[in-house]
Amino acid sequence: MLTSEEQAIVDLVRRVASEKIEPNAAAVDREERFPEESFRLFKELGLIGCHLPGDYGGGGLRSLVFCRILEEVARKCANSANILSQQDFAASPILLGGSPAQKQKYLPPLARGDKLAAFALTEPNAGSDVSSIETRAELRDNTYVINGSKQFITWGHMADVITVLCKTDPAAGRKGISAILVEKGTPGLSVGRLEKKLGMSGSPTAQLLFDDCRVPKESLLGELNSGFKIAMKCLERGRVGVAAMAVGLAQGAIDVAARYARERKQFGKAIAEFQGMQFMFADMATAVEASRQLLYHACDATDRQSPDANRLSSMAKLLATDSAMTVATNALQVLGGYGYLKDFPLERMFRDAKVTQIVEGTNQIQRLVIGREVLFPKD
Ligand SMILES: Cc1cc2nc3c(=O)[nH]c(=O)nc-3n(C[C@H](O)[C@H](O)[C@H](O)COP(=O)(O)OP(=O)(O)OC[C@H]3O[C@@H](n4cnc5c(N)ncnc54)[C@H](O)[C@@H]3O)c2cc1C
Repeated sequence: MLTSEEQAIVDLVRRVASEKIEPNAAAVDREERFPEESFRLFKELGLIGCHLPGDYGGGGLRSLVFCRILEEVARKCANSANILSQQDFAASPILLGGSPAQKQKYLPPLARGDKLAAFALTEPNAGSDVSSIETRAELRDNTYVINGSKQFITWGHMADVITVLCKTDPAAGRKGISAILVEKGTPGLSVGRLEKKLGMSGSPTAQLLFDDCRVPKESLLGELNSGFKIAMKCLERGRVGVAAMAVGLAQGAIDVAARYARERKQFGKAIAEFQGMQFMFADMATAVEASRQLLYHACDATDRQSPDANRLSSMAKLLATDSAMTVATNALQVLGGYGYLKDFPLERMFRDAKVTQIVEGTNQIQRLVIGREVLFPKD
């Protein structure tokens, strides 16, 4: 349940998503550009850091409200919703692992949208297997010297501050990983390729290269060798955001398909009148509603810091993103050949939905997390 104040925020976001964000969604995708106009709008509305605590200049909204906002924006433009989810996710290592001084320095400008953040975990040889990262940080004369490379880093080339997961004790596996902050422009940090992607074309993805990149010892987040734990906490927080985007995307696909089905006539009547079509809509709507309710349940567990939050956020991410892919595929089918054309938004939604099954832990990895928690519960 939302309070009336929270509901008013969601209603406002729904309105601006329709009036101001949706009209640019196709162009952002076609031109493969960062949705600057959505960023400015979110900044004006104070939404960029809406899920960060008020003490650090954020809006202090709870997960449920944040996810409702993501849902409403993703329903019209996943690239724009990704702005809010990415900034929150990439700020979370500082929020969850940073010292009071690091939080004071970095979080307020991130919350205002004056600075951007990135989270650099994945490497060419280490994706799902986080413990096998090879980027190395060595402490020399009160300075961490970082060498290695990171792959697929959202906003890697634009971010003002990047949390870089590095090996600080290579023999210790996941217990030898630390999270270290690197600021844009630090000598030794350079940007490699900008990736060409299937979808989410308004969310640039860069390769980062570290060549004797030196940062002060104070750039370490949390304790030495606590990086794996910090990353896992951030991913738990981020997964509900990905699930919310998937629910919004899927709802948006149903909206478009339903409008089309009511208008398109074949065999003398609207295709919406065929039972075969109605069954498709029944299945799509049921999948979205089930995902939505599980997402809200996971948000509630996250807000209460329940021990179930990790399992529930993985379940929500798994169900919502698999459902989004199925719904986007079937909604496209409703439009027949027109669904396949760039003139209609469904092919974009179909392409954007795919990545939700991959990021912040693939859905195979979510199944591993859930399976482990079911079979080997902690208490
Ligand atoms: C658009 C985009 C944005 C991204 N943004 C970021 C970012 O900002 N920061 C960042 O650090 N990373 C980012 N990533 C990387 C993303 O998190 C990884 O792609 C993802 O974790 C998977 O890693 P991988 O691609 O190396 O695949 P791999 O880990 O090599 O997996 C390949 C396949 O094997 C499966 N697999 C692996 N291990 C197992 C197992 N034990 N059991 C069953 N199946 C398994 C996987 O599910 C997958 O299907 C982004 C990726 C994309 C596409």
